[in-house]
Amino acid sequence: ELTHEQAQRWLLNFHGKVTDNKAYLSDLDQAIGDGDHGSNMARGTEAVKEKLASVTDESLEAVLKQTAMALISKVGGASGPLYGSAFMAMAKKAKETRDLSVLIEAGLEGIKHRGKADVGDKTMIDMWQPVATALKEGTFSQATIDQALLDVKPLKAKKGRASYVGDRSIGALDPGAVSSGYLFEALIEEVI
Ligand code: ADP
Ligand code: MG
Ligand code: MG
Repeated sequence: ELTHEQAQRWLLNFHGKVTDNKAYLSDLDQAIGDGDHGSNMARGTEAVKEKLASVTDESLEAVLKQTAMALISKVGGASGPLYGSAFMAMAKKAKETRDLSVLIEAGLEGIKHRGKADVGDKTMIDMWQPVATALKEGTFSQATIDQALLDVKPLKAKKGRASYVGDRSIGALDPGAVSSGYLFEALIEEVI
């Protein structure tokens, strides 16, 4: 049962982790993409922070929707609309339920629908899917995130910019899976 206060703390914590790891995320993207994922996400989560500071509608739906809109308009790059779709789908679902596992599942479906990618394509989905499954089964912990990062490495990228480098993506971490890992670490720290 996610409250709007918890959601606010979750997103501010995410902003902190992204900001602290901005250079690392861009280095990961430099290896298999265009090197901007850290700056994209730092700019986007900064916009989320500003938006949440001025949000007057104190509902979970509003927090998630404002987050989606800030990410869509400020991240730029493939990850903006994808994270945006995740938070927009969660906002819609929040009209019916505050159940965390149902909300995260809805976010995952939003990403899959928007990006036409699935598990095993070496994208942020390879972080969201195992987290959604573990939340549903009641086994979610830091170990879920750590394992997802190990599992994403040997994959060959089939979607997004990293797919252009072909076999060179094998063995590398996916930057979007790593930033999504920060999102879920923040969830553990603020909500779980
Ligand atoms: P860009 O590739 O436009 O520079 P970013 O570097 O900000 O955008 O984001 C790259 C990340 O976006 C990848 O690491 C991957 O996780 C994610 N991504 C790219 N395409 C897709 C897709 N179709 N579905 C899900 N995630 C994707
Ligand atoms: Mg990039
Ligand atoms: Mg880019």
